[in-house]
Amino acid sequence: MFPHATRKAPASDSASPHAAASRRADLKVCGECHLCCKVYDIPDFEKKAGRVCQHVRTEGGCGVWGLHPQICQDFKCLWLKHADMNALWRPDVCGFVLRVEPNGTTLAVDVDPDRPDAWRQAHYYEQIKLWSEVMPKNEGLVLVYAPEGLYVVTPMEDLFLKTPRRGDVLETGMEPSLFGLRPFARVVPARERRRERFDGVPRRA
Ligand code: SF4
Ligand code: SF4
Repeated sequence: MFPHATRKAPASDSASPHAAASRRADLKVCGECHLCCKVYDIPDFEKKAGRVCQHVRTEGGCGVWGLHPQICQDFKCLWLKHADMNALWRPDVCGFVLRVEPNGTTLAVDVDPDRPDAWRQAHYYEQIKLWSEVMPKNEGLVLVYAPEGLYVVTPMEDLFLKTPRRGDVLETGMEPSLFGLRPFARVVPARERRRERFDGVPRRA
């Protein structure tokens, strides 16, 4: 289940200047945000992640709207999709884009490389930690894709790894330690997986 369903949703804050925008959540539009046009690769024209797409218009919006790549047409961040996420969570405000990975249980936090620590601000970090409570129960994962690498967020600690490459597999879980169960995370490189398949040796968790 998507971690967004855990206890503390980023509910609208009636004391916040953004409350009015939150009440109109069903009318959400991207507005001045174009962070997804920055943080992702767009293979159609070899745009690399971290660089703003050349088609972003200075006055806002997409300069090739209607002819924009399918990958752009298909993408909607969680802020846009979820009525209960208030304006503080709009990606250009919070400094990261939220999405669910194709497995339906991993919440990805894709960080703006120009604001690498935005996700650590108390308001956001507290909620991200609450979402991560699904991890020890093996019900989901929260991953932060930061410029310096990947964080597997867990309620106990944030595990830092080198960003996996295409084909690598992320293994996570809980393992015994002197102090009881603790979370682990490791990246199995694609080449190792190929070798294992060749050897026919099963992997130990
Ligand atoms: S990150 Fe979300 S709100 Fe921002 S432009 Fe993309 S879809 Fe719209
Ligand atoms: S083509 Fe348009 S929607 Fe796609 S990344 Fe560029 S500006 Fe954004």
